[in-house]
Amino acid sequence: MTYGTMAAPEANPRANAALAADCEVCNGWGTLITSQGRHELCQACQSPTERECHDSS
Ligand SMILES: [Zn+2]
Repeated sequence: MTYGTMAAPEANPRANAALAADCEVCNGWGTLITSQGRHELCQACQSPTERECHDSS
């Protein structure tokens, strides 16, 4: 059984898979590969500020 390769060649930014699930821009990846071959967060679904359902009132 493969233990999985956690070591990625590039430091991929964290993408919220839940937000990217229905995104057509990044096809659910949450990240896009730029022309320079770098991974960047999908601006379409990955909002700059993490907005989660934490209603702490
Ligand atoms: Zn996206």
